[in-house]
Amino acid sequence: MSTLRGRAGGVTRRVRMARVLADAFRSRHRPILAQIVPMRRCNLSCTYCNEYDKASDPVPVDRMLARIDRLADLGTLMVDLSGGEPLLHPDADQLIARIRQRGMMAGLLTNGYLLSPDRIRRLNRAGLDRLQISIDNIVPDDVSVKSLKVLDRKLELLAEHARFDVNINTVVGNGIGQPQDALVIAKRARELGFGTSVGVIHDVAGQIVPLDAERRQVHASISNLGRGFYSHAHDHVFQQNLIDGKSNDWQCRAGARYLYVCEDGLVHWCSQQRGMPGIALDRYGVADLEREYRSVKSCAPHCTVSCVHRVSLVDEIRESPLETLGRLTSGPERATRRPPASVKLLTWLFVTSRHHQTFRRLASRAFRLAR
Ligand code: SF4
Ligand code: SF4
Repeated sequence: MSTLRGRAGGVTRRVRMARVLADAFRSRHRPILAQIVPMRRCNLSCTYCNEYDKASDPVPVDRMLARIDRLADLGTLMVDLSGGEPLLHPDADQLIARIRQRGMMAGLLTNGYLLSPDRIRRLNRAGLDRLQISIDNIVPDDVSVKSLKVLDRKLELLAEHARFDVNINTVVGNGIGQPQDALVIAKRARELGFGTSVGVIHDVAGQIVPLDAERRQVHASISNLGRGFYSHAHDHVFQQNLIDGKSNDWQCRAGARYLYVCEDGLVHWCSQQRGMPGIALDRYGVADLEREYRSVKSCAPHCTVSCVHRVSLVDEIRESPLETLGRLTSGPERATRRPPASVKLLTWLFVTSRHHQTFRRLASRAFRLAR
């Protein structure tokens, strides 16, 4: 994204993102992120995936536009097209344009296989804000062909043509893939100017066990490639416990701050908890958002759904600002994980500065106003 136009778009996107965060802090009755499925079919068949089929038709465009409008009416701040493979939907551009017309930020989760210069330019024109590709390994194997070797040319095309933000996600988990692959993928993403994220996943038996030394080192190295406040916060507050094989004590805000809307137009907590609550989006209202904000999810302690962790972090900060900031700026992991400048600034403001008590009082007051 080297053109002047691309840079200008990047600046306005940062401003819009800052507004999203401000709105998210201002009211807990607004969904921060909704992921909607316009297409359950996928052109790949990753063996670990339970989110695709090989037969379904695209959801008719009018139905999808009505769902996007309903999300806007609910006050949703960001909408991602998910799948299956959303780029198989013939009207994906129109859906993205509608998300933007309704004042929300537009994201796309794709396996990247269908990207071409023309496809990327159409996404630019539609107003896409961010695109995420998850890359599982360097060379294809029996589990996944979402491989750097196959996708590297697509990443170069994105670097050349995309005017939206690109994030490359990788994963580490015991017994899964080659541990060093994730680091190679993340370094390549940074080299091309993209953001990176890394998830910790359950082992092949579905258990959370402590990561082995090599995988811990890989995770720390990716964290230290230089990422923003939210990535650091997510690693520090949620991922560290998963790395240690421990559970997380947190309030999942799925169904309130995060909505997963399936191809049938039903709202679910997330892709892994479909059927809960399973209410039609056109009947989903403030009472549902309010109920799910505090509902107890028994799956929370071992949850690895990163996007819901991140969204819920907003409310951790709103509801317990000083405790959460304390968790971001302390702990033995600080020795291996370099915090970004924003976290260093917060540490200075609320922990080490001569006036930290004053800053704490001001922050407490500001966040109480935001409830
Ligand atoms: S590309 Fe994505 S949706 Fe398709 S099978 Fe793989 S993980 Fe599932
Ligand atoms: S805790 Fe995790 S798995 Fe359970 S509903 Fe929340 S996001 Fe989904």
